[in-house]
Amino acid sequence: MLTGPMMMNIFAFIILCVLSTVFLSKKRLHKIEDNLYGYLLISSLITIFFGIILGGSLDITIMSKNLLITLFNKIYLIGLIITISIFAYYAFCISRFYNEKTAKTSQNVYLFLCVFFSFIISLSPLSIVNNDNIITTGGVAIQITSFMFTFIYAILSLLIILDFKNIKNKKYIPLIVLILEGIVITYIQIFYPSVNYIINPSMVITCLIMYFTIENPDAKLVQQLELAKNEAERANKAKSDFLSSMSHEIRTPLNAIVGLSQDLKENGKLPKELKEDATDILNASNTLLEIIGNIIDFSKIENGKVQFFDETYIVEEELKTLVRINKTRIGSKNLEIETDLATDLPYKLFGSKIHIKQIINNLLSNAIKYTDSGKINFNVKCINKKNICNLIISVQDTGRGIKKEDIEKLFNRFERLGAEKSSTIEGTGLGLAITKNLVEMMGGKINVQSSYGKGTLFIVQIPQKIELLSKPIEEEKEVTKASKELSFDHKNILIVDDNLLNIKVAKRALQDFDFTIDEAFNGIECLEKVKENKYDLILMDIMMPVMSGETALKELHKDETFTTPVIALTADVVSGVDEKYIKMGFFDYLPKPFNKEQINEKLEKVFKN
Ligand code: ATP
Ligand code: MG
Repeated sequence: MLTGPMMMNIFAFIILCVLSTVFLSKKRLHKIEDNLYGYLLISSLITIFFGIILGGSLDITIMSKNLLITLFNKIYLIGLIITISIFAYYAFCISRFYNEKTAKTSQNVYLFLCVFFSFIISLSPLSIVNNDNIITTGGVAIQITSFMFTFIYAILSLLIILDFKNIKNKKYIPLIVLILEGIVITYIQIFYPSVNYIINPSMVITCLIMYFTIENPDAKLVQQLELAKNEAERANKAKSDFLSSMSHEIRTPLNAIVGLSQDLKENGKLPKELKEDATDILNASNTLLEIIGNIIDFSKIENGKVQFFDETYIVEEELKTLVRINKTRIGSKNLEIETDLATDLPYKLFGSKIHIKQIINNLLSNAIKYTDSGKINFNVKCINKKNICNLIISVQDTGRGIKKEDIEKLFNRFERLGAEKSSTIEGTGLGLAITKNLVEMMGGKINVQSSYGKGTLFIVQIPQKIELLSKPIEEEKEVTKASKELSFDHKNILIVDDNLLNIKVAKRALQDFDFTIDEAFNGIECLEKVKENKYDLILMDIMMPVMSGETALKELHKDETFTTPVIALTADVVSGVDEKYIKMGFFDYLPKPFNKEQINEKLEKVFKN
């Protein structure tokens, strides 16, 4: 005769069969939740099937053979453990504890635990007593199962309690129902121990509720959108990586073009026409270089790889240099830059100098590009509080202005507004996107006001640490003294680079001085040359076959008597890398391609002492 719980089991089994057929025959998203639900249905089906057979064995004489009952009991117990642990793993997967990084490890740990406990249960003794046709089970296997069951239940409950708010789309409902069922079952088992196999129907109820949270059309749509978003992000990252690595590759040959065309431009023997051509090549290459620099910078921002190296800098000096450089961009336009630096600007600040310069440079270069005539006001004020200086930088032009509806697109990447999209004004539309990202990463704000046809005002506010409020008098004297003693001649210089063209360019940049120049093509050759000769300066490429510049430097520094300054030469020009090379032990860093002014600046630094 079928008992009440057995009837419920059979009914639950039928429901589960229908549910599994519907779910497994449908086209599904291959998300971990859907897969786990599929496994859950299968393991529940198997467990409940054996539960029914075991419950029915009270009446079926063939089942009274202990060996078979032991086997079925063990399968049933393993099924129970696997089913409840799938519930727990499901809770883990939809909670904040689960992410792509932990996915692989957690899956392996989960599988290992399942196999381990199945193994233990299958080997543990199980006692079956047939008392007047009432079969009761006991022994270590049952104890282990009960312990595991309680343990997994506890973990499951903990996961849900800790992460209740983060579990989206009401997916916590079936899990809470499961926990409540657990409490009810425990109560029944304690007070009515003869009632068996009631766990199975309760699991089916949970599976049924879960079906509606998993197959919920809204949740499905969200899942699909999420998948599409992840896919788009992956594609975007691949694009950025590609652009970035291409840009690095392009920089090396550009190094040669810039260096050699600069040399041609300054060559006194060349006819005027050819010199003009060389100037055009130089200008075009410099533009290309800026574009490539922007692409590299932006891909770093997108991939979260921007590094901020804080350093001390003399504010006024840097700002004036920026204006001087930007004045050269004005060309034949009837345009002037008026600079107004507040008198209370601190003398020295501490912060990411390179990025501050990049931000101001982008604003000034835009003002010059998009203003045909008139005036550009470059104002820098500050609000000093304790040791923090809030720089307030404003760039105002009398240019074409920006339409109201275009203002919000201004900071979008690759967004170029108005006529210059198809006109001859060069640009990629990345400058302001980079600027805004950098400003915000540095804890600042950027604002814009514009009147179409009249002009634009950009205001940036960035906090920096104050290093020194006012200029000490002694320093001024020291500088003048040092610059008088400057002399570069009769020095021995070693250039280490695997690219012959790069060596040629470096040599040209140094040809105005009376240097003796030696060459090496990789780190090993450099070490050999240093053993044989005494150099005053080494210019070292970083990426080289056989032995890289970094390794060569480490080798050189093993000799404690080695004091020659080594300057890193590299195409890795992402803003803020100076500090990285100085930390490696280089004296300084020269970005490729470098021009005569840049190399002169470094030479001054090296030979000043
Ligand atoms: P680049 O990447 O070389 O800087 P870009 O100057 O075109 O190229 P952004 O600096 O991001 O790119 O500027 C985006 C657009 O905003 C410009 O194309 C221009 O239309 C507009 N814009 C930027 N600054 C000004 C300004 N001062 N006056 C008028 N329009 C401006
Ligand atoms: Mg720009």
